[in-house]
Amino acid sequence: MNDCDENADALPWYKDGLRFKCTGCGKCCTGCPGYVWVTLDEIVSIAELLGISPDECKRRYLRQRDSRYALVEMRLRNYDCVFLKDKRCMIYEARPRQCRTFPWWKENLHTPASWEIASRSCEGINDKAPLVPYSTIQKALQDGPEESKKSS
Ligand code: SF4
Ligand code: SF4
Repeated sequence: MNDCDENADALPWYKDGLRFKCTGCGKCCTGCPGYVWVTLDEIVSIAELLGISPDECKRRYLRQRDSRYALVEMRLRNYDCVFLKDKRCMIYEARPRQCRTFPWWKENLHTPASWEIASRSCEGINDKAPLVPYSTIQKALQDGPEESKKSS
């Protein structure tokens, strides 16, 4: 085996890319309790987009857990994210990193089986979707959260 072959073996199982295109169905923004964590920088960006102060943004849309902030969920509406309206994200341009990098999370990319499980709740993962190159996936993975929405 030459060096190139060894490097090829070191690449993850999805080295040839994965098929995904978001349909905007909004399912990943609802359906089970959890946490979408938001950094202080992201709070500023969301507040700017909404034309309100960061403090007002915190008061209206965020909940505090120790020193961190997470988006409010609507318990009486199937745990919808507070920014989900008519199946659309109202802060799409300023959505948190945790949302921007879905479905390229460690837990989804761990094995082919993890990816298959992710496809059951995300219709954008399917054989007809465009192929997303490995380099794009790796970049999103590096930018992505250490923990998922379900983490406490
Ligand atoms: S569940 Fe998948 S297809 Fe639907 S909005 Fe979320 S990322 Fe897009
Ligand atoms: S911020 Fe937008 S993308 Fe993120 S969970 Fe809420 S509605 Fe979905």
